[in-house]
Amino acid sequence: MRVLPLGAAAWLALNATPLAAQSAAERFPDLVAVDATPVALTHVKVIDGTGAPARTDQTVVIEGGRIAAVGPSASVRPPMGARVMDLSGHTVIPGLVGLHDHSYYTGGNGRAAQLSFSGPRLYLGSGVTTIRTTGARAPYEELNLKSEIEAGRAVGPTIFTTGPYLTGEQGSASMTRLDGPEAARRVVRYWSEEGVSWFKAYTWISRAELGAAIEEAHRHGVKVTAHLCSVGYREAVALGIDNLEHGLLANSEYDPDKRPDECPPGFRGDYAGLDVNGPEVQATFKDMIDHGVAMTSTLVVYEISVAGRPPIDERVYEVLAPEIAQEVRAIAEARRAGRGAISPEVYAKATEYERAFVKAGGLLAAGVDPTGYGAAPPGLGDQRNYELLLEAGFTAPEVVQIMSANGAKVLGIDDEVGTVEAGKVADLVVLQGDLEDLGSLRTTRIVFRHGVGWDSAKLFDSVRGIVGIR
Ligand SMILES: [Zn+2]
Repeated sequence: MRVLPLGAAAWLALNATPLAAQSAAERFPDLVAVDATPVALTHVKVIDGTGAPARTDQTVVIEGGRIAAVGPSASVRPPMGARVMDLSGHTVIPGLVGLHDHSYYTGGNGRAAQLSFSGPRLYLGSGVTTIRTTGARAPYEELNLKSEIEAGRAVGPTIFTTGPYLTGEQGSASMTRLDGPEAARRVVRYWSEEGVSWFKAYTWISRAELGAAIEEAHRHGVKVTAHLCSVGYREAVALGIDNLEHGLLANSEYDPDKRPDECPPGFRGDYAGLDVNGPEVQATFKDMIDHGVAMTSTLVVYEISVAGRPPIDERVYEVLAPEIAQEVRAIAEARRAGRGAISPEVYAKATEYERAFVKAGGLLAAGVDPTGYGAAPPGLGDQRNYELLLEAGFTAPEVVQIMSANGAKVLGIDDEVGTVEAGKVADLVVLQGDLEDLGSLRTTRIVFRHGVGWDSAKLFDSVRGIVGIR
């Protein structure tokens, strides 16, 4: 045995490690399904996130938190000492990258709550291994949550935090109501230095404020996305924005009542008659594509308000606090019956717009947006997006790519996560059944993040009845 010379400080550090650096898997053994290395997942179907067709009878080897190998089970042998899991009849996809995945939730009649406990567990249990919060009500809470998860003291996905919403004087109470470009610079500078990764501009920002915010953010290596209304998509692209949220229904530039720096009165994106192949829309797409600006699809938060849609996933009501579940159910039923709803034609047009954007060469990613009246909570809403993107006309490999690799590209982490490829971080979702037959992520069983496999059902159980409260 070779004895390494160690200084006293190094010796102390080594001996302190087990306590100080206790991993989430050690701290939360009840929630973990697989905490071994190496691990071989054998005889699985793989949809790898690159957009390539599914491959059957594959073996995925995980070692030291990374994907060590992936290929046909006949040729990829589990390494010596590996825990071998025969997962015949299961599908493996990359961990999802949720681009509109808030750390807070709004629901029922005007409720709002930070979900620092239940939100991260719902995301992870649903297969979402990375989130960008895309608008923070409590940025310090997000920054601290991110550190807690990274230190293994809390359970959840990798987090890209966001600063407070940047909007104009008509913004809601939790937002930064800017009164000019200097305010935009000041707020962006402060939060960039505090460590946020992104900002989100909101519906009442002016062009001058948005331009100033983008310039200041980029100076700090921070990016900007937006849920717009007062500024059109093409104007935002010209100002240097990095990403645009919600697709068609947040783009006011096709509204005949649009005035500069103003959101058209009562704007709802009622574009049922719009030609997505016409010159106006194609000009938007060309601008976005030429400037590398991605679009974030959030179909589920629209669907919950569309008349005539199928009932909400019952699991939503099971995880919500009972009182909130009751309110949400009542609103969902009223909307589906047509009261205060989005028309099916407008919703269909929004899906057509996203398909046309991809056809034109645009980068489409996705996220849940757990806001509005609250029927699309963290994670479960991301899973519903999978079904809605399929319904919108994308193939299963395309939807997986939109929800994983494309999100990773937007965040600039596609060298590390987003696909099932050797060398990448082992962020993976294991589903029971053949995903292409199922058309749904609802049978998610194990979610690997950094090589640790979390038990999806146990994560859901750990938040049952408290979502919407904590
Ligand atoms: Zn949002």
